[in-house]
Amino acid sequence: MVLHRIGDDSDTPYEDAYALAISEQRLPRFRMPEDTSPARAVHALIRDELALDGNSSQNLATFCTTWAEPEVHELMDLCLDKNMIDKDEYPQTAEIESRCVRIIGDLWNAPGAQSPTGCSTTGSSEAGMLGGLALKWRWRKRREAAGLPTDRPNLVCGPVQVCWEKFARYFDVELRQVPLEPDATGLRPHQLREHVDENTIGVVAILGVTYTCDYEPVAELAAALDAIERDTGLDVPIHVDAASGGFIAPFLHPEVEWDFRLPRVASINASGHKYGMAPLGVGWVVWRAEELLPEELVFRVSYLGGDMPTFALNFSRPGGEIVAQYYTFLRLGREGYRKVYEAAARTARSLAEQVRAMDGFRLLYDGQGALPAVAWTLTDPQRSPFTLYDLTERLRLRGWQVPAYPLPADRQEVVVQRVLIRHGISFDKIALLGQDLRSAVAELADGPCGAAPRPGFHH
Ligand SMILES: *Cc1c(COP(=O)(O)O)cnc(C)c1O
Repeated sequence: MVLHRIGDDSDTPYEDAYALAISEQRLPRFRMPEDTSPARAVHALIRDELALDGNSSQNLATFCTTWAEPEVHELMDLCLDKNMIDKDEYPQTAEIESRCVRIIGDLWNAPGAQSPTGCSTTGSSEAGMLGGLALKWRWRKRREAAGLPTDRPNLVCGPVQVCWEKFARYFDVELRQVPLEPDATGLRPHQLREHVDENTIGVVAILGVTYTCDYEPVAELAAALDAIERDTGLDVPIHVDAASGGFIAPFLHPEVEWDFRLPRVASINASGHKYGMAPLGVGWVVWRAEELLPEELVFRVSYLGGDMPTFALNFSRPGGEIVAQYYTFLRLGREGYRKVYEAAARTARSLAEQVRAMDGFRLLYDGQGALPAVAWTLTDPQRSPFTLYDLTERLRLRGWQVPAYPLPADRQEVVVQRVLIRHGISFDKIALLGQDLRSAVAELADGPCGAAPRPGFHH
């Protein structure tokens, strides 16, 4: 009768997820188990492990989406099988990707009636690399046409995110990282002349510097490059790494000219999964015009009998994030994005005020004028009874993840702490953080490094 019993739940005894063979042992970590196990139990056990990761809504270090509406979860589920590369099999998903590129191009003021050229990627890292590759190819073509050597390309930038260091190493480009000046939060226009030369494939400007959350002054950087072109004839394009700012500036700072309104801006990348509010796994890159994307970099795959250009480092890639990005555009509209980020900026301001009111802290960025975030440092680290690393650890006792880290090259002696406010991080949550921040500081100031924590329970 064994065959009869297979898959027949009705007469199997009740099995508790925590009283099964798989539940009464360490979970396998080196070798696939021989036997199958009930889905419920395995799910419960893995879910329990994941809980050790901490609570992402208290992760104030990340720029990435940690909250989404139930409809987004449903669409992601629906799209589990959508492969972005199979334009032929999933033409409507491909169409949705194209709509997103056009919407984003419009958001960034792409010129002309023609559709902007661009694509989705896994994130800003891949998007930046595609932008960088296009810069390198165009520079090389120009040099070859002029009979000049092409063996020493360089890319000029300020304190960039690690993806540009990767780009430089993977694709053999010298990264000329301009040191941060005292009291600067990013690259400054007057610094360019010293670093740009005939081998410069482009300048990367950052809208939302990872360390300080500020925008680099893209318009002023472009003007400095205009002046360099007048004086030397060097025509150096800008790629804007708007990983985080690309979905903030259009709504909170429409007057800031950083995008395709500036003729020198050739391409822009942004992370859909950061302030774009899509789930993890999507970035975007857009070029001002089709001719800025060299033909040799584009591969053709067949698309409903026609052919579809693709430019990507990966082949197969999930489509759900892109569909969810489209959902978010339609669902929120410009009004929704503006409201969400105006609220985030107000919350950032309230945290900034609380930090400003605390002894021993110096505010570096108050969340106004660029990303909704707050960054601070200690007024006098030498005399402070604690470091910001101690404070990070103390806040962690309450589940908060607030990173402390040194500023980049040339200002490494300055340690800062940063809090990012995103969709789903409420005013009240940040008020609770403020309370915990004050108690943590009081405790740290009180005792020798890490005095015993007070009991946390009050029954
Ligand atoms: C986050 C970030 C990146 C990398 O983006 P991913 O989407 O995580 O790959 C690149 N540049 C800047 C400025 C960033 O903030």
